[in-house]
Amino acid sequence: MTDTVRVRFAPSPTGPLHIGSVRTALFNWLFARHHGGVFILRIEDTDIARSTPEYEDAILDGLIWLGLDWDEGPFRQSERDDIYAEHLERLKAASNVYPCYCLPEELEARRKEALAKGETPRYDGRCRDRPDPPPAGQEPAWRLRMPQEGATTITDLIRGPITTENSQLDDLIMARSDGTPTYNFVVVVDDATMGVTHVIRGDDHLANTPKQVHIYEMLGYPLPSFAHQSLILGPDKGKLSKRHGAASVTEYRAIGYLSEALANYLLRLGWSHGDQEIFSRKEMIDLFGLEAMTKSPVIYNPEKLLWLNAHYLRQAEPKRLCALLEPFLPAAGVGVERFRADEAKALGAARSWQERSRTLVELAEGVSMFYADEVVYDEEAARKFLTPERIPIFEELIGRLEALESFDEAAIEAALMGVVESHGLKLGKVAQPCRVALTGKTVSPGIFEVMALMGREVVVSRLREAVAWMEQRKATSTS
Ligand code: GLU
Repeated sequence: MTDTVRVRFAPSPTGPLHIGSVRTALFNWLFARHHGGVFILRIEDTDIARSTPEYEDAILDGLIWLGLDWDEGPFRQSERDDIYAEHLERLKAASNVYPCYCLPEELEARRKEALAKGETPRYDGRCRDRPDPPPAGQEPAWRLRMPQEGATTITDLIRGPITTENSQLDDLIMARSDGTPTYNFVVVVDDATMGVTHVIRGDDHLANTPKQVHIYEMLGYPLPSFAHQSLILGPDKGKLSKRHGAASVTEYRAIGYLSEALANYLLRLGWSHGDQEIFSRKEMIDLFGLEAMTKSPVIYNPEKLLWLNAHYLRQAEPKRLCALLEPFLPAAGVGVERFRADEAKALGAARSWQERSRTLVELAEGVSMFYADEVVYDEEAARKFLTPERIPIFEELIGRLEALESFDEAAIEAALMGVVESHGLKLGKVAQPCRVALTGKTVSPGIFEVMALMGREVVVSRLREAVAWMEQRKATSTS
């Protein structure tokens, strides 16, 4: 390819950034980076009533979070009225558009009539060659004079050739009677004037493409290449929506997903490279190409995304994890200031749980055990493991821990092993009750690591509390 590749992501800021859209952004970005091209961001905000600055911000934030940096833009369609007006004049001058005076209620009545007869509703061409004079004082809409004969073939880079009979194409409205331009018109004007070479988008736009081809031709612009990627379906094969779980980037972020896991997951939704599942950013850029994209719909699989997230959590630098964890700490009952106050402890806590967590929410919950002011025993765990015959074991352990010169993992291990040996027990018989006494739970990182992170003071006081709890239990059971 000699010409510079120019692609664009063109979201409408009328709702949260859906993962289907993000996948489109990712494919465009990868295509641009692979070819050393340009990635343009265009905000399609012509639907003034539904577009909001908050949604636009969420789009920009989502792209930044995912590392999909754009080279040009963001352009906003709302700031390009002059360009659209000028292009409409060109279509008018060439008689490629004609004024249409049909009122919305008339069009609606005709649409219903067609539907009732089982026909596909289309504009009936009433104003196309209108013999009578136009109604006075009424602003017309402008419709494209679509060719009625022949056929239009596009060669889609993913789907191959697709032919549409021109008789199936409607006389589209290019500008409404209030002067506002419509989607199919502005998208062509934008793509053409921005020099877009490849239009890569979801196949929900496939039906628009032959219509857009005519607009390019009437305006005398060269056609870009088109590539329509397949839809994402939910596990039940229905269109992916909220009921299948989180749908927007903001939500995935809020429930503790890492951006690289989401990007890796979306990449594999429709693109493959053998059976490789995990791709670094560099590999994605090096290997990406439209020829390896599937034509068939792809099924969203939340389990796989979770698996990838766990993978990237395991790989992440603890320092980065500590920063990423902060927004999740309060909900897990940990004050951010307290977490920040002891960096070595925070790093150790994150490190100790990163192998065992699938999301940042789980990681924050895990880490919280090192910051809780008191232990809350899981009832069943306490009943099973904090039994009165363990009192002497705990007491000996407390003695040995207090006598340690340094409270590090190796020393703690030696102290625990000493107790194990003197009582002729297996390690688990001491470690598991300790785990319950210290964390309230039966699952945690390795017990020596947990103790070292908690520090001697907390460990000894929790072991003492457990002794008191067991004494109490003994008293109640014998009384
Ligand atoms: N703004 C359109 C959308 O969000 C995309 C238009 C296009 O890619 O051509 O669906």
